[in-house]
Amino acid sequence: MDLESLVIHGDAGLEDDTSVSPALYPTSTYRARNPAEFADMANAARHPRYYSRYGNPTQRRVETLLARLENAEAAVLFASGMGAISTTVLAHVSQGDHVVAQSSHYMGTTKLLTALLPRWGVELTRVDQTDPAAFAAAIRPNTRLILVETPSNPTLEVTDLAAVARLAKALGITTLADNTFATPLNCRPRDFGIDLVVHSATKYLGGHSDLVAGVLCGDAAAVEKVWADGIVLGACSNAWDAFLLLRGLRTLPLRVERVNATTLALAQTLASHPAVSKVYYPGLASHPDHGLAARQMKGFGGVLSFEVAAGYAAAQRCVQRLKLAANAVSLGGVETLAVHAASVWEGSLTPEQIAAAGIAPGLVRVAVGLEGVEDLKADFAQALAE
Ligand SMILES: *Cc1c(COP(=O)(O)O)cnc(C)c1O
Repeated sequence: MDLESLVIHGDAGLEDDTSVSPALYPTSTYRARNPAEFADMANAARHPRYYSRYGNPTQRRVETLLARLENAEAAVLFASGMGAISTTVLAHVSQGDHVVAQSSHYMGTTKLLTALLPRWGVELTRVDQTDPAAFAAAIRPNTRLILVETPSNPTLEVTDLAAVARLAKALGITTLADNTFATPLNCRPRDFGIDLVVHSATKYLGGHSDLVAGVLCGDAAAVEKVWADGIVLGACSNAWDAFLLLRGLRTLPLRVERVNATTLALAQTLASHPAVSKVYYPGLASHPDHGLAARQMKGFGGVLSFEVAAGYAAAQRCVQRLKLAANAVSLGGVETLAVHAASVWEGSLTPEQIAAAGIAPGLVRVAVGLEGVEDLKADFAQALAE
């Protein structure tokens, strides 16, 4: 099935109700008809009608659909993207293990790796994600997990998924990719040999800035193992968010196709603006990873960053002046959002760390929405005017 058809029909037949829109089960627990049935429910792996921390029927529909979208056997939904990432990492590492990750990850993931893992005796090496040889050089005998995230936040660097997967497979190391920015429409990490895929479903998968959720996709046994630890850690999703996520997923291909086109057009326009010194978007031929992105991705996604040449204050002024684009974190919704990157990171990083992460003082990150492209070009032009 085409992905366009899959998002509409990929969860068909799981429930025997006849409503066209999926049923919602706002219940914490389910009644058994007799003790024998109760024993079956309690001991089944991932019974969808037992207790809602373990899952529920609406959630199972979303998980089935997301697994198929990511070319995986199974998926499990979490309360947030960080719930999915933290639970998956914790389910894979023990004291004395070593993890390889990128120098640039989502801020929450960076904190998990650099602040929390050391407390449990897990070692970490962070590498330049644009260099496959750097991943190879970082491997140790106790390396258990390699984490990648592509394109990365906020400078949109691209990781060579096939190269990392090849390296890890040869050594029996598990690979985990955060595919939030790309979405399965633009890139499917498992097609390149990556084992596990996580998303902040809060972003493109939900698509309407009205839910917080995360998902892990992978082989059935691997997903079940993470689920079993996950019901103890408790970052479980809920029926309502699963329902909203399922609704959002029906239009994912349409939305991604549109943001791919709008973001490329906006990136090209910003690249020729005299007040802009640099645009970061893997769809531009000027991006250092454009060749790899063109091989690995079907479209280049809805996030771009650009540097306001005049620096920190001028970038804040630009964000302040935007009329259509709201000054808010997050991405993947119908509305365009923009943030001054240094303002976001200065709470948790020192100025030296911000510079080391490649975040220039004038960097603005834009999460492009579904507005008309000419309106967006005009909004950024007026915000950047003298
Ligand atoms: C937002 C985001 C996360 C965290 O997801 P939440 O749903 O906010 O917990 C993780 N990775 C990336 C790339 C994100 O953009």
